[in-house]
Amino acid sequence: MIYNIAIDGPAGAGKSTIARRVARELSFVYVDTGAMYRAMALYLLRREVNREAPDEIAGACQDAEISIEYRDGEQVVLLNGENVNPYLRTEEVGNMASVSSANPEVRKKLLDLQRKLAGTMNVVMDGRDIGTTILPNADVKIYLTASAHTRAKRRYLELTEKGTACDLSQIQKDIEERDQRDMNREISPLKKAEDAVLVDSSDMSIDQVVKSILQIYRDKVVKSEKESGQ
Ligand code: C5P
Repeated sequence: MIYNIAIDGPAGAGKSTIARRVARELSFVYVDTGAMYRAMALYLLRREVNREAPDEIAGACQDAEISIEYRDGEQVVLLNGENVNPYLRTEEVGNMASVSSANPEVRKKLLDLQRKLAGTMNVVMDGRDIGTTILPNADVKIYLTASAHTRAKRRYLELTEKGTACDLSQIQKDIEERDQRDMNREISPLKKAEDAVLVDSSDMSIDQVVKSILQIYRDKVVKSEKESGQ
C-alpha cells in the first residue's frame, strides 16, 4: 500500500516545517511542491520574462526541465540539471512564483511530476492544490492555515534570525497579496478540499500541530487497516 498525505494552505502557514516533521515521524518522503514552482519562477526571472505577459511565461516555461532528487533525505530541485535549492527561498522568487503559478502551462508541466512522485512512494506533499487537484484521493488531507498577521510575524522572525533586514508591515502586505492571487486564480485556486481537516495553527506550537496531524493520520489510516485486517 502507498499512502499519501496532502497538506495545503496559504503562504507562511508553516506547511513545510510541519510536513517535513510529519514525514520524518512516519518515515514518508516530504515533497515540497512550492519549491518546484519557485524553480520555475527562478528560471523566468533569470530569463527576464515579463511577469505581466502570460504568453511569454507560457512559451518560456517549455524550456525549463524541472526534476527532483533526494540527497540525504532532503529534496533537491534540479532546473535543467542545476541544483537550484540555494536560490529558491527569496521574497523575489516567492512573489514571482505566485504570479507564474497561475499560468496553465506552468501548472501542466509540474502536475505529472507531482503525481508520479506520489504514485511511487509514501509522501507528505504540501502545496496549494494537492488535496483538490493533484491527489484528490489522498488518504489524509489537511488544510493548514493561520491569520495573516501571525504568518507575517513568523516570516519576519525567520528573516531577522538570518540577519536579513525586513519590514513587518511590508511582509504582511506581500502575504495578503499572495493569498489574493493564490485564492482567486482561475486554475487550481487555493481552497480547502471538502474532505480536508482544517487546522488553524495561529495559537498552536509546531509540536501541537504535528501531533494533531499524526493523530488524524492514525485515526483514519491505521484504523481502516485494522478494520480491513491488513
Ligand atoms: O509554498 P511556497 O511559498 O513555496 O509556494 C510559492 C508559490 O507557488 C505560492 O505562492 C503559490 O502561488 C505557488 N504554488 C502553487 N501550487 C502549489 C505550490 C505552490 O500554486 N502546489
